[in-house]
Amino acid sequence: MPSDLVVVYHRQPYEQVMVDGQPVLRENKSPNGIVPTLKSFMGRDGEGAWVAWEQVDDEEERERFEKVVHIEDSYGSYNVSRLALTSQQVRSFYHVTSKEAIWPILHSFKERYNYDPVDWPTFREVNWAFAEAAAREVAPGGVVWFHDYNLWLAPGYLRKIKPECRIAFFHHTPFPSADMFSVLPWRQEIVESLLACDSVGFHIPRYAANFAHAAHALTGAAITEEVETRDDFSPTGMALSEVNTPTKLSHRGRDVSLSSWPVGVDVDYVGKIARDDETTAQLAEIREELGDVKLILSVSRTDYTKGNIEQLLTFERLLERRPDLVGQVRLMLVSVPANRNMAVYEEVQRTIEEVTGRINGRFGRMNWQPVTLISRAIAFKRLVAYHQAAAVCWITPLCDGLNLVAQEYVAARLDGDGTLVLSEFAGAAVPLAAAVMTNPFSNRSMDAAIDHALDMPENERRERMKVLRERVRRYDIRAWMAEQRRTFEAIAPNAVGDA
Ligand code: UDP
Repeated sequence: MPSDLVVVYHRQPYEQVMVDGQPVLRENKSPNGIVPTLKSFMGRDGEGAWVAWEQVDDEEERERFEKVVHIEDSYGSYNVSRLALTSQQVRSFYHVTSKEAIWPILHSFKERYNYDPVDWPTFREVNWAFAEAAAREVAPGGVVWFHDYNLWLAPGYLRKIKPECRIAFFHHTPFPSADMFSVLPWRQEIVESLLACDSVGFHIPRYAANFAHAAHALTGAAITEEVETRDDFSPTGMALSEVNTPTKLSHRGRDVSLSSWPVGVDVDYVGKIARDDETTAQLAEIREELGDVKLILSVSRTDYTKGNIEQLLTFERLLERRPDLVGQVRLMLVSVPANRNMAVYEEVQRTIEEVTGRINGRFGRMNWQPVTLISRAIAFKRLVAYHQAAAVCWITPLCDGLNLVAQEYVAARLDGDGTLVLSEFAGAAVPLAAAVMTNPFSNRSMDAAIDHALDMPENERRERMKVLRERVRRYDIRAWMAEQRRTFEAIAPNAVGDA
């Protein structure tokens, strides 16, 4: 049955596991992250559908492969349309083009951009396949909702296949400035495709403004509406640079609306975990182990964008600058490798291990290890216990679309205490401006921020945390979902593109 809402996200809403040699679909029960959030849009009156890919190499298996499967899980019942991609296609489309060429540019790392291995025809081919699958699933007048840069070309293709479709797009990453974006040789093609959408969404107004300016520069698209950036999004620091945010573009006779709303966390769910008996017991254990030692907690995927090496160097300077803190603070650095077999991430991991080893060698004692490095994922529940125990949550990416960990730390602090240090270059700095802000490109700023956090009097900690908790609540996941639904409803049902 065609659906009124088709979510196109490269990851699947369930796991395929082998039982007695047969593939079985099983609900992916992970309660946090974007997948469960998107699932909540499914199965409302049985009308949702999801398009994702599955790696299938074997020729025979490809023939037998079931393209559309029907899922019934705790969210409802919905179709999942699966594209069978070969490992070569996955490597080319995902690991090479997306991660080696596009990802560094999205995060403003020109020097990491690697064009040589890119196979753009494969990127186009995979995006075309996503567009075709979406076109098969969507009901007349329905909405197709694409997610993230690896599907940048799909909206343009879909507009050609089904001109009457309502098309929305959401970026889970930053959108860089026009001159940075223009490094991509396919810039024109990408922007033209995004302009085929009815609505393009971002986390924060600055990214929407960057997109509007790039679109104008590359295609002449006109900015036809803008709003004064709302107070909610005008903290101190960098984000103030956006005075007006474009909210509508006009291109080839069509309107494209731009929206900005950060993906939040499920505050009630985090609160529930923070209160549960298992977490409370884990927290007691962690506190006992720490004694009077202050815990500084940093949690992220292993990625050059996350600024973990800069953090380690700051921590090393802290112990040099302030010998009184030796034996009094501990850094727990959780750096989870997500993209194994990619040289660039392995190099970051190696450097993190080297600097950690050096700091522990220089300052460690029999009964005190300054840095605890964890290079594997920690179960979310346990992470919540660490959040509750940490005097400082230290989130200082060099560039980050938003950052959920910073929000989860705040949501976990039912006690109203704790200090968040946050990079100005994380999208989360916009809603969470009451954190201690830092510029991770400046040693002086990093040193000042960690000093401020460690020395902060209790009343200031509590005042800041109160504001942060209000913000995390106001911009929680339900608010984001409601905003997305409003965006879909605002798209005129008869919008017809000029295919
Ligand atoms: N996370 C986790 N265990 C870990 C490390 C991270 O469950 O050991 C979760 C974390 O709680 C958060 C997500 O992974 O929900 C990371 O999202 P974020 O936006 O911070 O970073 P991304 O990896 O998406 O850039």
